[in-house]
Amino acid sequence: MGGIIFDNVRIFDGARSHPGVGAVRVEGNRITEVSAPGQTVERKEGDRVINGHGGTLMPGLVEAHAHLSWPSSVERFVPGMALPPEDLVLTTARNARILLDHGFTSAYSAGALSKTVEVVLNSFITSGGMPGPRLVASSIERSPPQEGEELDPGQTADHGSGPDAMRAFVRQCATLGAKSVKFLLSGEDALMPGASQQLLYTQEEASAAGEQARESGVWLACHAQAAEAIKMALRANFRVLYHCTYADEEALDMLEARRDEIYIAPAIGIIQATLDAAPPPHFDMSHMKRSAAEVLELQKKLIPELKRRGLKILPGGDYGFPFNPNGRNARDLELFVQHFGYSPEEALSAATLLGGELMGMGDKLGQVRPGFLADLLLLDGNPVEDVTVLQDRSHLRAIMKDGRFHKDPALAAL
Ligand SMILES: [Zn+2]
Repeated sequence: MGGIIFDNVRIFDGARSHPGVGAVRVEGNRITEVSAPGQTVERKEGDRVINGHGGTLMPGLVEAHAHLSWPSSVERFVPGMALPPEDLVLTTARNARILLDHGFTSAYSAGALSKTVEVVLNSFITSGGMPGPRLVASSIERSPPQEGEELDPGQTADHGSGPDAMRAFVRQCATLGAKSVKFLLSGEDALMPGASQQLLYTQEEASAAGEQARESGVWLACHAQAAEAIKMALRANFRVLYHCTYADEEALDMLEARRDEIYIAPAIGIIQATLDAAPPPHFDMSHMKRSAAEVLELQKKLIPELKRRGLKILPGGDYGFPFNPNGRNARDLELFVQHFGYSPEEALSAATLLGGELMGMGDKLGQVRPGFLADLLLLDGNPVEDVTVLQDRSHLRAIMKDGRFHKDPALAAL
């Protein structure tokens, strides 16, 4: 069988834009050749040649904070968060397809509304039965017991306190097939005023989760707003830290010391969406908007400082809420440019090259390089000049995942 050649394309390789146009060859599920600038690649019998007409060829995007089971998407508005079970399963599957439709060929889950929906969906995606991104699947996000809540023995793993309950939860997630296990280490102001400064676990509990994760071969991710929650996560070997808004000097130093092993996603999409939301009169978002305004101001200082210190910071914005729907994920890149001083090229690199590392596949995913997996986007326009072109899926002329077209340019032109 012949290969596929993308000819006459401007190449963004995951780190930088090549000067002029060139060509890229794909065989099977791999990129096998990237031409020098101004050159093309050798054509062989049976090759399919796609003329990119000067459009951009780049790695598929990676969403670092995905909630495929959060109900709202660009195709469907759901006022709340709860869905009947069958609806939840189908909605999750549809959201996976929606992310892929919008150029996200990989997604790192930040938690699901059902224990196994992502794991099951992932097995359908990898077997070729369903469209969707490569997925690091999660189970439910773990929250501690409510004050005064009586737990059945069966609920200990999900909500009980103490190190043993934490270990049991991590073991359970691993057994169910989740790869990332998410904890709410601090509360969240947007849900309850003052909660971002509250720690929901002790260091002993978080560290027990860390030990079990290592034993069970899974990764830990956390919602961490308070400075002490960030420190707790780092001491307990968490790999992915979301938000980090209230990091103090000590937290910054601790983050920097671990910068080669950890990933941060500030989740700026949800903040901007909260500020932009125009809710109906009966729905009071004034508190959420105040909280979002504070977070934005803090993150505008924090993220450039973390970047300066060499931390790996990724787009990924908590999409799936009614006012921040799944499918709008590429907006995070624009917000990195707008609020955090990123160049479009840096934002693109964070969503591709760093995304490949986040997925645990840095040696074969997230770059246009020979030997790398063929997760590729062909788009009209140049995102290095204007990163917002990624937000309109009609600009995506081709979407390839693992060497196969999810969107075929020949069909896209029809
Ligand atoms: Zn989230």
